[in-house]
Amino acid sequence: VTTRHYDIVVVGSGPSGHKAAICGAKAGRRVLIIEEERGVGGACVHQGTIPSKTLRETAVTIRQFQRRTGGILDVVIPDDVQVRSLMVKLDDVVRAHESFMADQLRRNGVERLHGRGRFVGLREIEVRGVDGTAIRVTGDLVIIATGSRPRVPEGIPIDHEHILDSDSLLSMIYLPRSLTVLGAGVIACEYASIFACLGVEVVMLDKAPRPIGFLDPELTFRFVRLFEQMGGRFVANAVVESVEWDGVSAVVTTLKGGEQFRSDKLVSALGRVANVERLDLSQTGLAPNSRGFIEVDAQYRTKVPGICAVGDVIGAPSLASTGMDQGRRAVCHALGLDPGAPTELVPLGVYTVPEMSSVGLTEAEAVSRFGQAVVGRAQFHELARGQISSAQDGLLKLVADPAGKLVGVQIIGEGAAELIHVGQMALLGRLDIRAFVDNAFNFPTLAEGYRVAALDALARVKTTAEVVVEKRAAM
Ligand SMILES: Cc1cc2nc3c(=O)[nH]c(=O)nc-3n(C[C@H](O)[C@H](O)[C@H](O)COP(=O)(O)OP(=O)(O)OC[C@H]3O[C@@H](n4cnc5c(N)ncnc54)[C@H](O)[C@@H]3O)c2cc1C
Repeated sequence: VTTRHYDIVVVGSGPSGHKAAICGAKAGRRVLIIEEERGVGGACVHQGTIPSKTLRETAVTIRQFQRRTGGILDVVIPDDVQVRSLMVKLDDVVRAHESFMADQLRRNGVERLHGRGRFVGLREIEVRGVDGTAIRVTGDLVIIATGSRPRVPEGIPIDHEHILDSDSLLSMIYLPRSLTVLGAGVIACEYASIFACLGVEVVMLDKAPRPIGFLDPELTFRFVRLFEQMGGRFVANAVVESVEWDGVSAVVTTLKGGEQFRSDKLVSALGRVANVERLDLSQTGLAPNSRGFIEVDAQYRTKVPGICAVGDVIGAPSLASTGMDQGRRAVCHALGLDPGAPTELVPLGVYTVPEMSSVGLTEAEAVSRFGQAVVGRAQFHELARGQISSAQDGLLKLVADPAGKLVGVQIIGEGAAELIHVGQMALLGRLDIRAFVDNAFNFPTLAEGYRVAALDALARVKTTAEVVVEKRAAM
């Protein structure tokens, strides 16, 4: 067995590992990236983000076509439509993204090794190829970026034919007439609303009282209302007793209490688990934490010197967007380079129909931090662009501290995941919500919602002078 030495060895070529490798190579280091799949890109490109967003684009376009043309033309989805044909662009999108990522590695001189990596020593990894050959590599710095896979909940007999998980869902041949979704987290809500938008009868079951509990309830309540308007149904506080394929035509889901749901297909979207088992972490002295993730500090260092971990393998927020940033930051820290100011401002984009997005504090968080919060809202139906684009169902909500400094933005509606970045930059610039009023916005745009919401909020903000007077009076 030959051993090769590198400055940096990255295990996993998803968004987190990819960005870590590129960052190391740009800093002039000799970098190797190990990937067990044939192509680079990880779950993001092959099972998660890119495929789900490609299907969503078709679903939203069909719906928007009808709405935006004022219903003058009807789009009818044939009964026997194949899921594949709703994603005709998928192969092109995946190929384009994968080759872009592979080109980037090549251009930056990152070496690639196709095979499964496992630790055989402290920073020594054996990479076994599909033909059984093994190569050993060592690295001064090892980055673990092996990602995650769907959790297989006990008692849910996933067969990938009738009862699927979020990785196998899009391998369905025909669009089902009905779908039960277990869970109400980000992935569950995205798929539930995408399939409802395609005319599938969707029931979403979850033990929580509302979906995506960490989002502002004003957004999630509106999401549930819009989901139900599309024909979906959300059942809260639902404890699943059993799930079984009846052997003939339906998946039967029974709740504690007896209520039953029958559907063509069921998808379990009840969280993800880290890909750590096959890494032989014990060879390094590392062990996953009680939830199965690798524990790291603020610089993404594990407790073993020279080994970092980034992306889904370290747990929440488990997003491609945050994984990329973690990969870059981990390598910068390890090489003593400036990673830029640390930021708590992680934007969250949820690609439901319609989208939801959030950055900074929610209203409830602002109230608990400042005692009170100033809130301004823009309903998309108040915006010319909202009317023109038939996107009237949206809401943009600004949250400010009592003196009017912006502390958070929450949006539900078309373009929410793009619009949020205006708010993110305003937060980074520590702007007052007056900045949205003092500056012109393109018209007609949805971004104009920032102005409308700021005007709404300003009607309630106390001037700084008033706050000072109040504080003095309280002293
Ligand atoms: C349905 C769905 C929709 C999503 N939508 C979004 C979204 O809209 N926006 C967003 O930001 N995020 C989204 N995500 C999350 C996003 O896909 C993940 O957060 C992201 O892919 C994690 O990146 P990663 O690099 O940590 O791991 P991964 O992308 O999982 O990549 C890990 C890689 O490591 C490889 N690997 C594992 N073990 C080994 C080994 N021992 N040796 C060699 N290689 C190995 C795997 O083959 C894989 O290629 C979505 C996820 C799902 C499932």
